[in-house]
Amino acid sequence: MTGNSPINPPVNQPNDPPTTSNSRVRQVEAIVNGTVIDHIPGHMTLKVANMLASEHDQVSIGMNLRSSRLGRKGVVKISGRELDQRTLSRLALVAPSASVSIIRDTHVVQKFTVAMPPFFEDIARCANPNCVTNHEKWATRLEVIRTDHLEVRCVYCERSFPASELVLI
Ligand SMILES: [Zn+2]
Repeated sequence: MTGNSPINPPVNQPNDPPTTSNSRVRQVEAIVNGTVIDHIPGHMTLKVANMLASEHDQVSIGMNLRSSRLGRKGVVKISGRELDQRTLSRLALVAPSASVSIIRDTHVVQKFTVAMPPFFEDIARCANPNCVTNHEKWATRLEVIRTDHLEVRCVYCERSFPASELVLI
């Protein structure tokens, strides 16, 4: 040993948890590459996991974890996959407050809160059974009219609905 060696500073070993994530994220096993969706309202956790993960994905789910912001929250981690724009829009509809971290080689390379789009384009069905979009093959277009308790209005039939009444496409 030659004492301090500035040439070889300590580096993160491959199995270390992401160094920039906070301790609460680590209530669920860390992943090496993939996506962490955090701050999911507790009751939406399984819905988010179901929506995002295909049967081949390796998924870790943490439910009813303590959160200063939400009381109880969920965390979903998907190994080996980063979410595309359409998936992020679906996430905005189901868990608008969620944060997304992209993990590469155990490091958080990007972290952001899911952005609320002005419109949901062909993401969910209109909840009005008589709406033309439920009878003809039209892409749905739902305008966000309220964000604190997410509410949307169909641009075709002009009916508005809370997000909880919508069914994803
Ligand atoms: Zn409609």
